[in-house]
Amino acid sequence: MTRLSSEGATPAMAQWFTLKAENPEALLFFRMGDFYELFFDDAVTAASALDIALTARGTHGGEPIAMCGVPVAAAPAYLARLIRRGFRVAVAEQTEAPVKGRPSKGPLARAVVRLVTPGTLTEDELLEPGRSNLLLVLAGGGARGRKAKESEKLGAAWIDVSTGVFETASLSPNGLPALLGRLDAAEILAPAALDLADFTSRRAPDAAAPSVETARERLAAAFGVASMDAFGTFSDEESIAAAMAVDYVRRTQAGRLPRLARPVTQNEGGILGIDPATRASLDLLRARDGGTDHTLFAAINRTASAAGARLLAEWLAAPLTQPARIAARQAAWGCLREQAVCREGLRAALKKAPDIARALGRLSVGRGLPRDLAAIRDGILAAREAGSVLHGAGGLPHELARVGAFLGVAGGLEKQLRQALAESLPARLDDGGVIAPGYDAELDEHRALRDDSRRLIAAMQADYAARYGVTTLKIRHHAQLGYVMEVPVAASARLKDRAELVLRQGTASNARFVTEELASLNTRITEAAEQATRRERAVFGALVEAVLAEADLPPLAQALAELDVFQSCATLAAGGAWCTPKVTEDTEFALEGCRHPVVEAALPAGTRFTPNDCRLPPEQRVMLLTGPNMAGKSTFLRQTALAVILAQAGFPVAAERACLGVVDQLFSRVGASDDLARGRSTFMVEMTETAAILNQAGPRSLVVVDEIGRGTATLDGLAIAWGVLEALHSTVRCRTIFATHFHELARLVDTLPRLSLHTMGVREWRGQIVFLHEVLAGTAKKSWGVHVARLAGVPVPVVERAARLLKELERAENTIPEPLPLFDTQKTLPHPPENTLRKRIMDTDPDSLTPRAALELLYELRREAERMQPQAMAGHGQSSPETDSF
Ligand code: ADP
Ligand code: MG
Repeated sequence: MTRLSSEGATPAMAQWFTLKAENPEALLFFRMGDFYELFFDDAVTAASALDIALTARGTHGGEPIAMCGVPVAAAPAYLARLIRRGFRVAVAEQTEAPVKGRPSKGPLARAVVRLVTPGTLTEDELLEPGRSNLLLVLAGGGARGRKAKESEKLGAAWIDVSTGVFETASLSPNGLPALLGRLDAAEILAPAALDLADFTSRRAPDAAAPSVETARERLAAAFGVASMDAFGTFSDEESIAAAMAVDYVRRTQAGRLPRLARPVTQNEGGILGIDPATRASLDLLRARDGGTDHTLFAAINRTASAAGARLLAEWLAAPLTQPARIAARQAAWGCLREQAVCREGLRAALKKAPDIARALGRLSVGRGLPRDLAAIRDGILAAREAGSVLHGAGGLPHELARVGAFLGVAGGLEKQLRQALAESLPARLDDGGVIAPGYDAELDEHRALRDDSRRLIAAMQADYAARYGVTTLKIRHHAQLGYVMEVPVAASARLKDRAELVLRQGTASNARFVTEELASLNTRITEAAEQATRRERAVFGALVEAVLAEADLPPLAQALAELDVFQSCATLAAGGAWCTPKVTEDTEFALEGCRHPVVEAALPAGTRFTPNDCRLPPEQRVMLLTGPNMAGKSTFLRQTALAVILAQAGFPVAAERACLGVVDQLFSRVGASDDLARGRSTFMVEMTETAAILNQAGPRSLVVVDEIGRGTATLDGLAIAWGVLEALHSTVRCRTIFATHFHELARLVDTLPRLSLHTMGVREWRGQIVFLHEVLAGTAKKSWGVHVARLAGVPVPVVERAARLLKELERAENTIPEPLPLFDTQKTLPHPPENTLRKRIMDTDPDSLTPRAALELLYELRREAERMQPQAMAGHGQSSPETDSF
């Protein structure tokens, strides 16, 4: 930011400086007439972000003032672009109206009426209909500037301003990544010392945390209760986070607090732990390419409303861990699956249901539009319709009966809105005509006066035309002059002498006159119109109050959303090969005929997806999966993880049959990609993620890992894969699928009792490879890398040369009896013999090297290594019986 002082500024500029100083972290949209103008650095930033013209206006301190602007009418589209690019915008409006005909002394008063930030949006233009938009606040986690200890709990509070959702949690710092991944908040307010990892770019400017006492008082005041105890027990950190969230929201809405649900504390224990890396590898809500088409969500979404889609996404992001709750959801959609007529009826009703929650959100911050009131009206009606369809079904399971109880409420409000709102509604209240005739007597009166006068004026045109003998005479409304009589210039000469006519304006072709009669009618119309507008606003305001006072609306909106999710699951299950999984308290794991719904949907027409079984019973809970590239390993791993997520979210699973012992944490490392943005190599990412699994997974977890150790030299990689597999098998003792291209690991089956060997079926046919995509018992016989290379279009001479080389290498290998000391698990890998290379490295002090010296040393070591014979590493102990240890 250029250092500027307001010295020597014009009065309007001085105002700009004051408002900018109050909102230094935001771009200032400064209202001037029909434009929002931006100045100085804000203008430079916005012009480039929005690709609009940058101009200059006047000078300040001898420098031209950079400026750009957007029309007020088009502002939402520009705001959306700025918000998406991570900017915040402070909107400064003129808070007094210019008075016509009176020159103002000094600039009009202006104030920031709103701070637009990514996590506090309410407008449909700025929001995705099917996604929640959360502000997340984190508090606690140790004193400033120092890393949190594990024992120091974090408080979390999250708010969706657009729907009023307000939840909190108390968690230990190592639960933070999973929470961040699950909520995927648009904006995060967190202590500077807290590492937000991949979510750093969502950080909001830091704010000071209040004391616990202040926090509790502020929260109680915000909800109009004497004490927060009324809503349950909140930890200190939770209270602080919640109070900060409320404060932040209030600040962004210029002091006005939107309607928020009472804060609900979430028991993190009841949710399947899925960390961000696992989420990313599974394409749950967003695909790795950033799109939403090839996601699990898209594959299962059959909701009929935006609110339903949001809830489906929420449940998919937070699967449960209590079999009873899972079973309750299954029972709800299971009932609808059996009743096709009821299901179709519900779909029809839900399709008509507008987004009540978001309409309520806007109405509660004073940004409600006429269509938001209509949304409430139609929503209540649709809910009633859904309710009667549902109750027609009879014999409802508990969850459906609970939801059904909320669907018939708020009938009085619906009737009131039906009577009050005009048949066709304008986009904005100011356009007039929102309230139906006959609803409010006073409004009708003002309108009648206004319209009668208009009719009188219309009648006058014929009258005047006859009186002044000008057939082309017109009575027109003119923006500045009001109603005028307009005649062609040729005719105007004749009217010059008429005393009752006052010439107001002459143009090249027309002359415009007024009469006393016209002027007084004009005044009556203006006054009546103004009064009608005022009255209409008041009636609108009263309706908004009535809507906000209807306590049954938020639960009704929630009930509709839940019903839509149940309907969606039922429709999905009824329409294809989806099953109701049995979710149990033990550690069983059996999937029969399981598919990957996203890969299946993406297969070209005519190709069939091959279903596979997956069994990980306690006595064989670790599966080692080998097979060539492209054989379907990664797909199999992912579909297994997805089956767990679907099952525990209470949704149908893409399988013939499924029986799963509840999983507490899911870890999936499939297809690691380079994290170039953070300057880490594939291998480093892979090892960081592997470390996370080994440190966090427990006996109830499910771990699926793909090709660990691929990103480094073969021996290294094999050793690491081997160590990790052993640890998962014998120390973590969780259910595991371990896909690898290190066929050597298959020998571990002799020493790891719970390991089972599986491989992807392939067939060779006339020298070509055919992938069967079938998971079979056993291990892969060869790698088929050369075949896959041919398939991928590597030029024939190269492939042929590689095939010849492979033959030779294989022959050479077979002459070495036992190439690798695979079964010395006590010491894992042997230490390489002492050699000069090692000595040279150990003698080096990396900290004292200049970059240039380091590079030279590296080259030298490399040359030396090349000269050395590969060290034979045989002779380090044969297999030891005691391998089942870490
Ligand atoms: P790998 O991990 O073994 O290299 P992938 O799982 O990436 O193999 O699968 C490669 C491709 O094979 C997939 O993109 C998909 O088109 C196809 N495929 C995988 N599994 C199946 C299956 N069970 N049925 C049909 N096609 C499959
Ligand atoms: Mg793969």
